[in-house]
Amino acid sequence: MKFLKGKVVIVTGASRGIGRAIALKVASLGADVAFNYSQSQDAAESLKKEIEALGVRCEIKKVDIKNFADVKAWVEEVKEKFGRIDILINNAGIIIDKALMMMSENDWKQVVDTNLNGVFNASRSCIVTFMKQKSGQIVNISSISGMIGLPRQTNYSATKGGINAFTKALAKEVAGFGVRVNAVAPGFIETEILSGFSDEQKEQITKMIPLNRIGAVDDVANCVKFLLSDQAAYITGQIIQVDGGLAIR
Ligand code: NAP
Repeated sequence: MKFLKGKVVIVTGASRGIGRAIALKVASLGADVAFNYSQSQDAAESLKKEIEALGVRCEIKKVDIKNFADVKAWVEEVKEKFGRIDILINNAGIIIDKALMMMSENDWKQVVDTNLNGVFNASRSCIVTFMKQKSGQIVNISSISGMIGLPRQTNYSATKGGINAFTKALAKEVAGFGVRVNAVAPGFIETEILSGFSDEQKEQITKMIPLNRIGAVDDVANCVKFLLSDQAAYITGQIIQVDGGLAIR
C-alpha cells in the first residue's frame, strides 16, 4: 500500500548507502522526495532519475549538512517547491575512526559538525512547520556505536549517543503537537562507510553477529518504513537497533 502518497519526505545525505535506500523506499511508498548530498553529484542525479521513474517528484541539492544557514535555506526552498514537508530523515553521517590519542581537533570537529550538528541544522529547520501543521515525523539514523561505545570511535560514538538523547528530548517536547521522533541504530551495514574494512575484518565482525551476517541497507530502510507507518502511531522517543543482535543489551 502506498501509504506515503501525497507526503513530502526530506532525506539528508541520500546520494549513497543507507540514505539512498531510504529515499527509494519512501518514493516506492508514494512520497515526493527531496535529498541533499555533499560531493556525489553523479550518484545523486542518477538516484533522482530512479526516484522519478517511480512516478513521484524528486528535488536534489548540493548542501553541506554542516552549514546551518544553507540547510535552512534548502528546507525553505523544498517547502516552497512542494508546498509542504511531512517527514525528515536525518541520515547524513561520516566516520573518522582513530584512537583518541591520535585524534586531531579537526577529526573531532568534522564528525561532530556533520553527524550531530547536522541533525540540529535539519531538525531546527523543519520543526516549526511540523508543530504548526500538528503532524510530522523525524527519524534519526543513529548507530549502535552511540549505545555501547566502540573503540577508535570516541568522536562518532559521542555524536550518535548525542543523537539518541536528542531523539528522546525532542520526542517529549513535540509529542503534544502530533509530531513523532524516533531513531534507528544500525549495526554493521554493507555500504561505502565499511570500505576501510578488509574481508578478513568483515569475517571477524560477522562471527560476532548473532544473525551471522552484515546487514543490508534495506534492513535499515524497512525499519524506517515501519516507523513512518500507522503501525507505529504509538511509538515515539525510541531508538530501535537494527544490528542482527550484535548489541543486544
Ligand atoms: P555512506 O555510504 O558513506 O553515505 C553517507 C551519505 O551522507 C552520502 O550520501 C554523503 O554524501 C552524505 N554526506 C556525508 N557528509 C555530508 C555533508 N557534510 N553534507 C551532506 N551530505 C553528507 O554512509 P552510510 O553507511 O550510508 O551511513 C548513513 C548513516 O548511517 C550515517 O549517519 C551513519 O553514521 C549511519 N550508520 C551506518 C552504519 C554502517 O555500517 N554503514 C552503521 C551505523 C550507522 P556524498 O555522497 O555527497 O558524500
